[in-house]
Formats: sequence, C-alpha cells, structure tokens
Amino acid sequence: MKFTRTLAGVAASALVLTLSACGSSQKTADQAAPSGASAAGGLVGVTMPTKSSERWIHDGDNIKSALEKLGYKVDLQYAENDIPTQVNQIENQITKGAKLLVIASIDGTAITTQLQEAADRKIPVIAYDRLIRNSPNVDYYATFDNFKVGVEQANSLVKGLGDGPGPFNVELFAGSPDDNNATFFFNGAMSVLKPLMDSGKLVVKSGQTDFARAAILRWDPATAQRRMEDLLTKTYTGGAKVAGVLSPYDGLSIGILSALKSNGYGTAGQPYPIVTGQDAEVASVKSIIAGEQYSTVFKDTRILADTTVKMADAVLKGGKPEVNNTKDYDNGKKVVPSYLLQPVTVDKANYQKELVDSGYYTAGQLK
Ligand code: BGC
Repeated sequence: MKFTRTLAGVAASALVLTLSACGSSQKTADQAAPSGASAAGGLVGVTMPTKSSERWIHDGDNIKSALEKLGYKVDLQYAENDIPTQVNQIENQITKGAKLLVIASIDGTAITTQLQEAADRKIPVIAYDRLIRNSPNVDYYATFDNFKVGVEQANSLVKGLGDGPGPFNVELFAGSPDDNNATFFFNGAMSVLKPLMDSGKLVVKSGQTDFARAAILRWDPATAQRRMEDLLTKTYTGGAKVAGVLSPYDGLSIGILSALKSNGYGTAGQPYPIVTGQDAEVASVKSIIAGEQYSTVFKDTRILADTTVKMADAVLKGGKPEVNNTKDYDNGKKVVPSYLLQPVTVDKANYQKELVDSGYYTAGQLK
C-alpha cells in the first residue's frame, strides 16, 4: 500500500508541476475559497467508498440527483473499498475541473496529497459521513452524530437483554480502524456499556474489550463472521452462552448471525443473542422482522444527502453553509465545521413507522 501511495504522490506532484509549467497561478491552501458564480452549474466530484453496502448506493444516488436538480454536473465514483482506486478517482475529478469535491473516504488519512492539490486549485472539499483526517484542506463535514449512534446501539443492546439482574455475557465488535467514525461509535457505546461491565451486570467473556481487538478492518462481514466463530469456539465452551453482541454495522451483524447459526443458535431452545446494527439495510430489516437481528440504527441518507447538497450549493455560490457543530470533529489539523444529524434506533416495534411510513422503503421491499 505504501508503494501505491507513493506512486499516487508522484503522480500528484507531476500534475502540480505540469500546472505550474502552464503558468496557472498556484494558490496556497489558506487562500482556497469557493470560486463563486463561476462554479454555478459546474462539475461536482462525488466519491463513495463501495457499492458492496447498500447505504452508499442510496447516498450516491441521492446526492447526484439533488445536485443535478440544481443544475450541477456530477461525477459519481465508487472504489470498492480500494484506497488507490479512490485516490485516482479524486485525482481524475480534479483534472476534469471539478468545482467542489464531496468525499466519503475509505481511509480517512490517505488522501492528504489530493486535498492539497484541490486546495491549490481553490476546490472546496466536503467530507461526507466520514471525517477526512490529517489535512487542513477539508472545508466542511456533513454527518450524523456518530457518538450518539454508538450510544443508541448500546442502549438497544441493554434494552434487548431485558430487566433481569444478569450477569449477561456480551461480545463487542467495532468498525474499521481507518474510519474515524468507528472510534466515535465504539466510544459512544462504551459510555453506556462500561459502567455496566464495571458493575458486573455485563461480562465480556472473551476479555476483548478494547477497540483494537474488536475492530474489523474495512467493515468486512466475512472477517466479523470469522471473529465471531473464533469467540464462540474458544470462549463459549462447556455450555456457556452469549446473550448479546454489540455490532456497529448491519453487514457485520449478518456475518455474526451466520457464525451464531452454525454454532447452534437461532432455534427455539437456543435463540439468537441480542445483535445490534447500523444503516437499516434491507437484509437486516428483514432479519429484524424475522426475529433474528434485534435492532439497527437508521440514518436517513436522504436527509444527509440533502444537507450535503445544500452545503455544496452554498459554498459554490460563494456563501457560508449552515453548521451546527464546531467543536467535536478535530481531524488532527483543524476542527472541521460540521452539520450533525440525529440517528434513530429501529427494531421490530417501529420499523414500519420509521422505514415504511417515511417512504424510505416500500412494504414490498421488506417482504
Ligand atoms: C458509516 C456507517 C456504515 C459504515 C460501514 C461508517 O463510516 O457511518 O453508516 O455502517 O461506515 O459502511
């Protein structure tokens, strides 16, 4: 990966050199500013991490159609979770003359060079859903309250376990370590779970309570499935049972549930433990309706896309977009002005209201 990143760096410097040779004036990062009226109807580059998870498809489609409605042209790209591919896509968008970039990064630290190039060309950057780290060249951030997502997941886990005194055996999963959101989710969840672990109501029988041990690189469902298999075969021996699993994303929950199934869970005598999730993906909502996965955290991608498009439009017209948080998202170089939306926990009791009545899915899609 280092090799590819270095190559990307060389390509980036070559591009900058070419531009200087053409005599185009180079601006410093702090001069980067929206190019105002000239940007109206211009090209907006949108990069999303992967199509392997439904949510990003909704995000991309929603952003594209909303921008197009406002008269912008859109270049929408997916990188199948491959960092060099995303780096190239951003490079290409800059070369094609994008007036603004909306980026949902794969590795929040891997695109510093590209963002410097963008700043040099006065191309503003909006971090979408995931914070881009270690770069001063991130203008705005649109996301959900990521700490709250974790709090919601943990509260739902505790609710699902019920009122009994315990102790309840639980296991913890976290997201990809290169995604800034993953630590926010985990810390939010631990703010609820840690006191219950300290009091002895919850027991993490594997002892794997730190983020590093719980993390699943690139949010890969198969890796989560393998880790769950491992936990079950190594820790849950001699009749011990797991009562709850903190899962931060529906894709992981599906992997976790299959590991549980192949170890005898999911029967009348041995029901599935309480398993949480995130994103309200169709397969997981169906699983919730079927009584397998317990809950998910719904983040309405229509609203996130809409918020981002409003931000982009304001910036492109030379204005200042609305933000509601200017303290929590320090990316290592600056606190990025952010707009945070509110997540909603969805389980069997409220999926109809939150997902169907709201028009996010049709009833047919969930059959
Ligand atoms: C997003 C989640 C998503 C996860 C895996 C996170 O950055 O905020 O909504 O579940 O990535 O795609």
